[in-house]
Amino acid sequence: VISDKVKEVKTDTLKQNDIILIKPGEKVAADGIILEGESYLNESLLTGESKPIKKVKDDKVIAGSINGNGSFKITVSHAAKDSYLSQVVKLVDDAQKSKSKTQLLADTAARWLTIIALVTGIATFLYWYVTGQTLAFAMERMVTVIVICCPHALGLAVPLVVAKSTALSAKHGLLIKNRTAFENSRRITTIVFDKTGTLTVGKFEVSKIISVQKDLNEKELIRLASALEQKSEHPISTGILQKVKDFKVTVPQAENFKAITGQGVEATVEGKKILVVSPGYLKESKIAVADGFTANDSETVVFILINDELAGYIALSDEIRPESAEAIKTLKQENIKSILLTGDNSKVAASVSKTLGMDSFIAEVLPDQKLEIIKELQKKGEFVAMTGDGVNDAPALAQADIGIAVGSGSDIAAETAGIVLVNSNPKDIVSLILFGKATYRKMIQNLIWATGYNVIALPLAAGVLYNQGIVLSPAAGAVLMTVSTVVVAINASMLKVKA
Ligand code: ADP
Ligand code: MG
Repeated sequence: VISDKVKEVKTDTLKQNDIILIKPGEKVAADGIILEGESYLNESLLTGESKPIKKVKDDKVIAGSINGNGSFKITVSHAAKDSYLSQVVKLVDDAQKSKSKTQLLADTAARWLTIIALVTGIATFLYWYVTGQTLAFAMERMVTVIVICCPHALGLAVPLVVAKSTALSAKHGLLIKNRTAFENSRRITTIVFDKTGTLTVGKFEVSKIISVQKDLNEKELIRLASALEQKSEHPISTGILQKVKDFKVTVPQAENFKAITGQGVEATVEGKKILVVSPGYLKESKIAVADGFTANDSETVVFILINDELAGYIALSDEIRPESAEAIKTLKQENIKSILLTGDNSKVAASVSKTLGMDSFIAEVLPDQKLEIIKELQKKGEFVAMTGDGVNDAPALAQADIGIAVGSGSDIAAETAGIVLVNSNPKDIVSLILFGKATYRKMIQNLIWATGYNVIALPLAAGVLYNQGIVLSPAAGAVLMTVSTVVVAINASMLKVKA
């Protein structure tokens, strides 16, 4: 913030004593002290404490914690890169700790194979020695068995596929934070899509500003609305702030700013209580919509209330992402249902859902309702993926079997989801599913190969065909074991994604 103007800067250019504005749902970019405003912060990423903590003026905030519904300014206490480092370390740590079920299965199998190797080895030794073979022969059999059984291939079977698939998915715009979510993507039966910012670009342009009070012009209306929107992170706010520039007015300060997640924003401006809210909010608070209020099907409308009285509205238009239609079409071919879930009004929802050929839509839903709808679908036996970008999507992202965040969205969404679409392209969800399937297949193939070859090699090594004159030398055993490892490695490297 320079002389009351807010501009976007890169996190790594932040210096000590810089002043930065933190909007609802954003991740705190640097360690610092609150200069003005207040909010609840979630510091669980850093401290493990999951209950949001209230922070007021002069309180210390740490980089990486996630903002709740307030908006505040902080004075940066040291250059961002110092704390950034610790975050990267933490991320890598988490990624390594996040082992999928398949990986755990491989670990268990490897442990068992080690035990089997030792037990069979000793049993083999005892058998041959007791039945009158020389000590050297019995030792040789034991060594071969242990060499064959050494779970080399098994130890590599899954990690090799994981390494390959992580690299490949990164190339295809998928950031995989949770391996299990990724491997489970093959089981998805329903995908729930958030509208704004997910299926649409989330770049709003103001198309109409209408005042419903006689002594209030549109310039005054957008001036007041902008005061609130400059503290909001929602795509709507960007649209309104862009438009207010045309009016060449000074945007006043907003105090006691609070986001009403999924419904709008409220604050005090020049002593008046101002709200900028959705049609759903009006309905809930029983405020009648003005006469002559018309919105066409594709416009999002927000209403401005001054001291709880309707003052006017602003209509904004957004565009559907060019890749959305194809993504929905491919999902349909894969027999996956797509449902639109939005906090926006039902006219817009119906129009978007129809244009894209989606199975159904649910409009004017609040964050907790989004979560409930996911739960209901799960109760019906659906394996649900949720895709969203907003603060209001976070609870649903957490509830869904697979949470997919849009890269351009809020930090809290990315934090909650198991997978992030780095390029914000809904088509990448299709790659995700196809790719999850391919990866899973490879893992299973490798597991079967790495354990299966023991079924034949082990008895041979123990000398069951000794009477037929077939025995495996320790050297041959070593070669076999290496071959199996190589096969597993080659199989993993052949993983491809077609999409
Ligand atoms: P979606 O679920 O489609 O992503 P949201 O739940 O984020 O949409 O928003 C739902 C509605 O809440 C918006 O259509 C708008 O009416 C209202 N809203 C949310 N945030 C704001 C804001 N900052 N300013 C004005 N209205 C807002
Ligand atoms: Mg959204």
